[in-house]
Amino acid sequence: MLYEGQIYRPPSEADAYILQATIGCSWNHCTYCDMYRDKSFRVRDLRETLADVRTAGEAFGDKVRKVFVADGDALVLDLEHWEAILGACRQAFPKAQRVSAYATAMNVNEKSAEELRRLRELGLSLLYMGPETGDDVTFKRIAKGSNFDEHVEAARRAHEAGMKVSAIFLLGAGGTERTEEHAAGAAKLITEMDPEFVSALTLTVVPGTPIAKLQASGRFSLPPVTRMLEELRTIVSDAAPTDAVFRTNHASNYLPLAGRLPADRDRIVSVLDQALAGKVPLRPERSRGL
Ligand code: SF4
Repeated sequence: MLYEGQIYRPPSEADAYILQATIGCSWNHCTYCDMYRDKSFRVRDLRETLADVRTAGEAFGDKVRKVFVADGDALVLDLEHWEAILGACRQAFPKAQRVSAYATAMNVNEKSAEELRRLRELGLSLLYMGPETGDDVTFKRIAKGSNFDEHVEAARRAHEAGMKVSAIFLLGAGGTERTEEHAAGAAKLITEMDPEFVSALTLTVVPGTPIAKLQASGRFSLPPVTRMLEELRTIVSDAAPTDAVFRTNHASNYLPLAGRLPADRDRIVSVLDQALAGKVPLRPERSRGL
């Protein structure tokens, strides 16, 4: 199997077979994102992609329970590609229980309801979407490409097709200036998107990214760690999804938390209050990752 460049996947796909069907991200503008800056976006040759699926199937087909289709916004692939890929995965991995991919709100909203339903029928059952914020000013500043309403619409359309949604938020994305609006908006967006999974990452300003340049020129400042934990507290206490698995287990976070929202809200808020009071140790800076 061939992989081009660095491969990224969500923490919950650590045990998945990763199939690289696109190279890079078709959007590639988010100011904080360093993942695919070195890759010029392209759809991988379908014959190559399918050959990878066959090779993986021959090597460990029965053992695969999850397939994650990379790179950054693989949902952008057209239906023809997806039909071939999902069909090949079904043959190669008969025991696979789910196929997932990263998706932007644009990717979802550009597909018709029928296309989304077809993808679900063929096995694509989970979309990881990263609105990062719920504040429309912050959406613009981080160049996310979609706003609050477009993310709500994308989640609605994914759900209508029978897919699950994992929504990812980024502590610190609003900077010190929009910290309150960023957190309150994220909580509101979680309520409106009503995802099955919610996770939060913590912004790390990576040298060379647009946000690093904004920081260097004084136009962006990352909130202090305690303030980002307060953002998380607002998100957890104000978000009201129906029933979502909640995780902050990404390496970028200062405090790994897990539970369900809203069921475990009080317990999680209490841990955050203890951390804010200095009674729970935070992950040391040197142990954090991107
Ligand atoms: S959509 Fe995702 S992968 Fe693409 S630039 Fe934005 S954060 Fe990076």
